[in-house]
Amino acid sequence: MPLLLRVLRGHAACEFVAEFVHRLHRWLHRDGYQVTVVESALSVRDSGYAVDVRGAALGLLEEMGILGEVREHETKMRGTTLVDETGAETGRLPAEAFAGDADRLTVSLSFATDTAALDQRDRDGQEQAIRAAFAGNGWEAPRLLDEMAQAADFYFASACQVELDRWSHGRIALIGDAGYCAAPTSGMGTSQALIGARVLARELAESGGDHRAGFVAYERELRPDVLKTQAIGREGAKMFGAAA
Ligand SMILES: Cc1cc2nc3c(=O)[nH]c(=O)nc-3n(C[C@H](O)[C@H](O)[C@H](O)COP(=O)(O)OP(=O)(O)OC[C@H]3O[C@@H](n4cnc5c(N)ncnc54)[C@H](O)[C@@H]3O)c2cc1C
Repeated sequence: MPLLLRVLRGHAACEFVAEFVHRLHRWLHRDGYQVTVVESALSVRDSGYAVDVRGAALGLLEEMGILGEVREHETKMRGTTLVDETGAETGRLPAEAFAGDADRLTVSLSFATDTAALDQRDRDGQEQAIRAAFAGNGWEAPRLLDEMAQAADFYFASACQVELDRWSHGRIALIGDAGYCAAPTSGMGTSQALIGARVLARELAESGGDHRAGFVAYERELRPDVLKTQAIGREGAKMFGAAA
């Protein structure tokens, strides 16, 4: 059993999420719940970053009977190579994924900053911040910065965490990033969202129609793991120069 699957971004990732939601929907329906799925995005993004599925989330996919389908969409990345400004390799991050080639190259430029509200800037402003952060860098940085201006799928977002005292209010409960985002630097956000959905569905089923009891049990079970994942996210952020 691998520790990690790196699932293709874009359509493949969306198909996988759609199948997950479909199975979860069936379980909830079986337990007497009517499910309505709401999505604000107008269409599926055909670009983006690969997502990982790790640890307990792999067991969950197996339980749902979709692990095989998800495996078919692995990006088969070989891991991460660290290079200096001349392009010479200086280190490697362990490759938990499998050998092979991804079908497409996505470049991610990450940097630490004290400037607040970069998310609120328009694209020009965000590109400016990225250029300033990587000014003077060697290797392929100048070429990547040039390419960035032409990119049709430019995406910019601050890496942040969501820390809430409670994840539910009245008849509303939050799962995944909305309730307890651990930041991309944790590498666990997808797994955490999948597990959160599963735990909430199970606790609702076991609460015999008392959603308040279900919400309390869901949070009691998941919060300790979420705290650990968020600590990993803060630790991971240091790799990109963040203070904490
Ligand atoms: C650059 C980057 C790299 C990442 N790398 C990894 C990684 O390697 N491994 C990993 O596990 N995780 C990674 N993550 C994190 C991971 O993508 C998230 O943790 C995960 O997607 C959270 O799932 P979610 O369902 O909670 O939220 P989302 O995936 O954000 O889904 C929320 C959905 O709700 C929709 N929505 C929002 N508002 C509304 C509204 N008002 N009405 C209706 N619909 C709405 C959105 O369109 C979206 O489709 C990364 C994230 C980023 C940005």
